[in-house]
Amino acid sequence: MSITDNYQKLARKISSARRVTVLTGAGVSAASGIPTFRGSDGLWKNYKPEELAHINAFMNDPITVWKWYDWRRGLIAGAGPNRAHTVIADWGRKLPGFSLITQNVDDLHDRAGTQNIIKLHGSIWRMECVNRCPPSKGGWRNEDVPLKEMPPLCPYCHRLARPGVVLFGEALDPAILSAAGDASECDVFITIGTSSVVYPAAGLLSLAKEKGAFTAEINPDATPASGIVDIAIAEGAVEALSEIDALL
Ligand code: NAD
Repeated sequence: MSITDNYQKLARKISSARRVTVLTGAGVSAASGIPTFRGSDGLWKNYKPEELAHINAFMNDPITVWKWYDWRRGLIAGAGPNRAHTVIADWGRKLPGFSLITQNVDDLHDRAGTQNIIKLHGSIWRMECVNRCPPSKGGWRNEDVPLKEMPPLCPYCHRLARPGVVLFGEALDPAILSAAGDASECDVFITIGTSSVVYPAAGLLSLAKEKGAFTAEINPDATPASGIVDIAIAEGAVEALSEIDALL
């Protein structure tokens, strides 16, 4: 099938679905100028993001990890949602039973106007107390760019703060994972801009397929999901979502 046929087929499936679920990864924010983990560059090019964003790296050297997060927060603060984020926000308003699950921590889906997002990995704008001191329960929002202190400290007990994100080597919140599992029981499941190698997020596609969903991937590069989905669209998120949205 040509790419146009694929766009038309996916648009038809979306139009007739009762429940559409989209899972996004870092590739959706690439067009906003935020590097993915597979293509990191610039100041931190000599570091592996999977290693820096690991709980062991943070515990061994919190200042280096915080400096990397400070750099990423600066990039994100200077970026805005792109057309892929705004199409997804529009689907949230116009498609019944729409759910968005994201692995992104940049909050660009929120800034585009999507509501009730299932955020698997948290938000880069939140912090938590490493010691989980009781007054800090649930963490707090911090939007300082650059950070005012290095490393940042818990405002309640004045000990080390940590990024409010799920680091590699850590488990996801079971309640959030369960919400993502429920959302994966849908008619159409579309995975966009994710390398589909980070579990458990990568398992949601298989779950959706097992439950009978029509599945699609949007990613310019082939991933382990490409051979599993009903339709693999080898295009960028902005281009593909603009084309599909125009057909709805
Ligand atoms: P990843 O970096 O592993 O993979 C990104 C994927 O996006 C790749 O498969 C790449 O081919 C694809 N891609 C690149 N440009 C694209 C485009 N224009 N359109 C569509 N796809 C494009 O990211 P991941 O799969 O999300 O998982 C790794 C982890 O990275 C997640 O835990 C996430 O929290 C974290 N992360 C988040 C951000 C963010 O919040 N923006 C940025 C980097 C990493």
